Amino acid sequence: MWPGYYPRLVAADGNKTTSTYHPSFWERPEYFESVPWSVKVDKIISWLTDSKKPVNLAFLYYSEPDSQQHRDGPEDKETLRVVREIDRRIGELVRKLKNADIYDAINLIIISDHGMKTVSDNKVIDTRKMADSSLYTTVIGLSSSRQLWPKSGVSVEDLYLKFKEGVRSNGNFQVFRKEEMGFLNYTTNRRVAPIILLANPGYVFEDLTGCYFNYRRVCGMHGYDPRSPEMHAFFAARGPNFKKGFVSTSPIQNVDLFPMISSIIGIPLAPNNGSLAHTIHLLEETGPTRISQDFVEDPSQSLQDEPNRAVPGVTLSIFLIAIGLESHLIMGIVLH
Ligand SMILES: [Zn+2]
Repeated sequence: MWPGYYPRLVAADGNKTTSTYHPSFWERPEYFESVPWSVKVDKIISWLTDSKKPVNLAFLYYSEPDSQQHRDGPEDKETLRVVREIDRRIGELVRKLKNADIYDAINLIIISDHGMKTVSDNKVIDTRKMADSSLYTTVIGLSSSRQLWPKSGVSVEDLYLKFKEGVRSNGNFQVFRKEEMGFLNYTTNRRVAPIILLANPGYVFEDLTGCYFNYRRVCGMHGYDPRSPEMHAFFAARGPNFKKGFVSTSPIQNVDLFPMISSIIGIPLAPNNGSLAHTIHLLEETGPTRISQDFVEDPSQSLQDEPNRAVPGVTLSIFLIAIGLESHLIMGIVLH
């Protein structure tokens, strides 16, 4: 789904000639549209219980309530109905895991990747009044934020100052130079534009008009500053490595999930922007797989670009399922 998202897996013997960019089991995106949820759940469970090569890590993605909330906003009655439907589907997953007798053996993590905010057609920021759109290239349709690449001969600083003036007169968005966006780890990533516009929650830029407001006055949008509460995502976990009945009072970031999952299944960390220190309080001190006390986190390994790094296989003993990761719609990984 994302550029650079394919994990590069290397055989346990380090033999790179057998490396692959795909997980052990996976289904193509066509699976998303045409295959019922119950069939996807059955497939995941068949991978987890495979007698020869049971997967150690499985991912199952469901696209709602994102689509519904984009359509009608998070406060709409239909959104509540879709949330209830998701609850029913998770219930089906849990029931089938119990029937397969693996429910208590796995760590089940249920997450979402972002929140949602109601937006309306009377809160549109028209940036065409601030700088001529012929001065830059941009991506259309991501209307809570905009990335701007100045065209040849246009100075980054001049364009930045035009939008800075726009912020003074409009007040419903912020403008950043790429180097100022350390809070999103954008500063050195080659896929991030030199100038970024970020709308305040509830506001959108004019390019949303054609996508949504032609046929409705209210809809939903995400992509705002992740520090705003409306953008906060869902996290729940259950299994032998997690404390029981524990409610965390401190929020975690989704980038912290990678070191958490890596530590549970015992694989070395690839460079990343998360920290196990942010999730360690959710984990049992002793579980089927012990969380290493000397789990090394090297701040210099902080990642600013695409994560295509080799991960050598190691011996594993537990299963893990996650729902909601927008990577593969359904996939499983066997590590030896
Ligand atoms: Zn979305």
